[in-house]
Amino acid sequence: MSHNRILSLSALLVVSSVLAHPLAAQTAQVIVLRPDRVFDGVTPRLHSGWLVVVAGERIAAAGPEDRVPRPPEARVIDLPGLTLLPGLIEGHSHLLLHPYNETSWNDQVLREPLATRVARAVRAAEKTLLAGITTERDLGTEGAGYADVGLKQAIEQGIIPGPRLLVVGPAIVATGSYGPKGAPELRLPKGAEVADGHDDLVRVVRDQIGRGADQVKVYADYRWGPTGGAQPTFTQDELNLIVEVARSSGREVAAHAYTAEAMRRATLAGVRTIEHGDSGTPEVFELMAERGVGLCPTLAAAEAVTSYAGWRKGVDPEPERITNKKRAFRAALDAGVPICFGGDVGVFPHGDNVWELELMVEYGFTPLQAAIAATSGNAAIFGLDDRGAVREGLLADLIAVEGDPTHDITALRRVRFVMKGGAVVKQGIQ
Ligand SMILES: [Zn+2]
Repeated sequence: MSHNRILSLSALLVVSSVLAHPLAAQTAQVIVLRPDRVFDGVTPRLHSGWLVVVAGERIAAAGPEDRVPRPPEARVIDLPGLTLLPGLIEGHSHLLLHPYNETSWNDQVLREPLATRVARAVRAAEKTLLAGITTERDLGTEGAGYADVGLKQAIEQGIIPGPRLLVVGPAIVATGSYGPKGAPELRLPKGAEVADGHDDLVRVVRDQIGRGADQVKVYADYRWGPTGGAQPTFTQDELNLIVEVARSSGREVAAHAYTAEAMRRATLAGVRTIEHGDSGTPEVFELMAERGVGLCPTLAAAEAVTSYAGWRKGVDPEPERITNKKRAFRAALDAGVPICFGGDVGVFPHGDNVWELELMVEYGFTPLQAAIAATSGNAAIFGLDDRGAVREGLLADLIAVEGDPTHDITALRRVRFVMKGGAVVKQGIQ
């Protein structure tokens, strides 16, 4: 971008702000970020000697220092020793849940007051943002209604700090399949919304959309087989219908599925992502790759739950569940399935999101593949074309870390700077 273009862009911002909002002109400030290196979210090689110019909430320019002149009015933020990269995009969270080794899922859903759950979620949202997650797709409130819609509003209105949220409200589940269960004479409240058949599903999907769902989450299978194992829930026609109704409003569907059959049905129905995918076969992963369906493997949730049950990693033999996860992850990679960064955080502590990326590397990704999945990869899977890369015109959601995450993924645990929409929300060690 030329010098003139920068000046004219900032002038334009000021002029348009003055016309629209007389007070906003002061907030359209220009900031120049000067890190040691930039990982732009796409290019494997890091850029040294780059400047990133932020005007208002967007990136106005990014490139070599001698080709990106600093506007004279700009505030310069030096980030010595740090790598600047796009803010991370978490693909599978539950802000309304906290780790199951603190309180079981059943007790969180049945016994915790909504206000307590929201209070925890407020803190979780802040921890998430400070950990460098600037966008998060939250996949179900698990009995907390539309509290996610309210949290999203509170963040957007600047009432509380947190990432930009994509929310689903309650997930949709088939009658008889979901928990809490085990009290046959009672009608226990569920951790999701029950719906079946044509009219009911059409009504519920539309109702959720009306209440603020950005996407629809559906459980394509669940633990309700004769021996307690996962079995498909919705029929092919029901899944097709859910996707058709959601899509006609411009919304995508995420499907929970462990079994190959539920994964196959969900893929054929046209969901955007499949969550977990533990029992995926090479054939079903090939079908997903062919249809461009992403997989959120939720490796960290599996390791967390297994360790809560007593597994000591590196000491005890590897449990079957973990061996199976590794097999499924590799099969998905071999088939070329787009892999989503989404750990099911909430099952393990919010703010510890990067654990999923570390496990992706342990299970077969390169650090670069993991860093791309967490930035431009998830942006592509979720259709967020305004973020996920360091590029002119995109949202100024940027973080800086100690070290090079494309060679050492643990660098993403050393977040020293967070900017969201051009506003600095963390600088230094906090
Ligand atoms: Zn989940």
